[in-house]
Amino acid sequence: MKLSSKILYSVIIALFLSFAVNADSTDYDNELDSIERSLQTDINIAIDKIDTILSSELSLTPQQHSRLYGLISAKYIYLGDFAKADEVLNKALSFNPRGELLTNIYLFKITANIGLSNYQEAFSLLEKNLARIDNYQDPRIKIQSYSRLMNVYLELGAYDEILRIAQLSLNLNQGKDPKYQCYLMLYHAVAHLKLTHFDQAETLFKDTQLYCKDNGFPLIEIMSIKGHGNVLFDKGLYAEAEPFYLVALERYQKFKFEVEINEIQSYLSVIYFHLDDFQQAEMFAQLVNALPNKPSNMQVKKRVNEVLSLIAGKRGQFDKAYQFQVVASALDKQLLDEQKVKENAYQMARFDSVEKNRENTSLIQDHELLMKQKDLFMKEKSSSVMFSTLLVGLSVGLLLLLIAAWLQRNQFMKQAQRDGLTGILNRRAGQEIAENQFVQTQTLDEPFSVLLLDLDLFKHINDQYGHATGDWVLKKVTNMISDMLNPTDIFTRMGGEEFAIFMPKQTECVATEFAEYVRNAVANINTRFSGHEFTVTVSIGVSSVGKDDLSLDPLIHRADMALYHAKAIGRNCVACYTDELK
Ligand code: GH3
Ligand code: MG
Ligand code: MG
Repeated sequence: MKLSSKILYSVIIALFLSFAVNADSTDYDNELDSIERSLQTDINIAIDKIDTILSSELSLTPQQHSRLYGLISAKYIYLGDFAKADEVLNKALSFNPRGELLTNIYLFKITANIGLSNYQEAFSLLEKNLARIDNYQDPRIKIQSYSRLMNVYLELGAYDEILRIAQLSLNLNQGKDPKYQCYLMLYHAVAHLKLTHFDQAETLFKDTQLYCKDNGFPLIEIMSIKGHGNVLFDKGLYAEAEPFYLVALERYQKFKFEVEINEIQSYLSVIYFHLDDFQQAEMFAQLVNALPNKPSNMQVKKRVNEVLSLIAGKRGQFDKAYQFQVVASALDKQLLDEQKVKENAYQMARFDSVEKNRENTSLIQDHELLMKQKDLFMKEKSSSVMFSTLLVGLSVGLLLLLIAAWLQRNQFMKQAQRDGLTGILNRRAGQEIAENQFVQTQTLDEPFSVLLLDLDLFKHINDQYGHATGDWVLKKVTNMISDMLNPTDIFTRMGGEEFAIFMPKQTECVATEFAEYVRNAVANINTRFSGHEFTVTVSIGVSSVGKDDLSLDPLIHRADMALYHAKAIGRNCVACYTDELK
């Protein structure tokens, strides 16, 4: 079914509702039972019986009254007069039906409202009824309401939902009640058809037909035959679909099931067109086209107008073809608009019913609600605990990440500050740190001394023993000096084989003494471990802060002059800056 028919299957349920009452069995109850049975087999007999019982209406109890009007509404539903059905059902309600009878009247009202496209009303009635049947333990009543729900879903095109609920209901019924079994089997097949699971649908329609025939539900049997035809029709197997529709049509006519009759006739019109039997196609199309213009006929009329347009086209009557096409398009637009209204109504109804449910809860439901809320609260709480755990976890993770980044950054910074070969501060970093220290000592009016060291004839070591030995010497010297320093001393590689030791708070005297100590230590380095035997010596220039020094630069400069002097006087010695060196 490419285009969903508006009320096709929605009428089905009406046939399966039991209007049984719990009152003592009286003549009237028996009579009503008999009307109900007739409605499922021969509507004419049912109508006669209804007329008879209406003549003695005054003797009926309120419950019997309700039941009678419920059955009368079924008659109107058969005939597709949903407005009348709804009106009669309101009358049935006015007799205050109770229990299962009330449930059934609600269910009938839902069918009528679906037929009238009052989806919002249908949906809220459904919700109301579902709330009622929650109080019942009887699975049959639950199945009835599920059925009605499937009906609404069918209208909304929610076929996955229908499939789910059909399977759920079949499980609930477990074949116990053949009437429901029959009906649910049909719905199960319809869901598969709508979901275009053609193979499953075909098998299920066949099974349903057999089951319903065996259990005495002829109407569902016919619907299954028609369903089988629909599968073949949707597959484009028109010649194969034809006999199924013809059988179904003949049997529906006995029931005067107008809605179904019109639907099948419209399908037959399409089929005969495809089979090139234009005369038959036109005949069925005209039957459908003569139907009154009411919503339930829009779909079928649209279908046959398309056929009529195609036939006219084949005959070269293009004017006519165009006119039929215009009608079909207009109907199509109306159907589309209706679909939009339906979807809006669906959303509104859902919203409304949530609100209404809130108002209508009984004490027990209140209690259940409380329990549910408590449950929800616990869940929310645990999820919020989970969430905060997650947050804590996240922030701890973030912190660790930050620390790692910070450590890495520090390491990078250290690496950036360090000389790659010796591991001591490089010139830029060493001088910066020293400068800071210098400023501090200056504010406190403390001394500050600088040692500049330059290895003697280092080029010779490189030339004589190779660059690697030169490196070994640089590392050996720096390691050794590092061990001799105070924590406050700043040891820096100024470049090549030249080093500086900045000594905050140290007087020139202490610095000179230390320089001598270092010079001596270097001169005593045992170079055997380098693989060669030679002597390493260092020349050291010393300077200390003077009252005119505003920065470190003049000190370095003076230490450099002292160093130059030390070199000049023969190397391997310490020289302090004096004004004579200027
Ligand atoms: P002086 O006593 O006058 O200072 O003589 P010198 O040979 O030490 O002085 P010069 O400046 O002529 O030579 C310094 C040498 O140090 C030149 C250069 O190849 C070497 N040198 C500089 N950096 C490194 C280094 O990282 N490793 C090695 N192996 N040698 C280096
Ligand atoms: Mg040198
Ligand atoms: Mg040098």
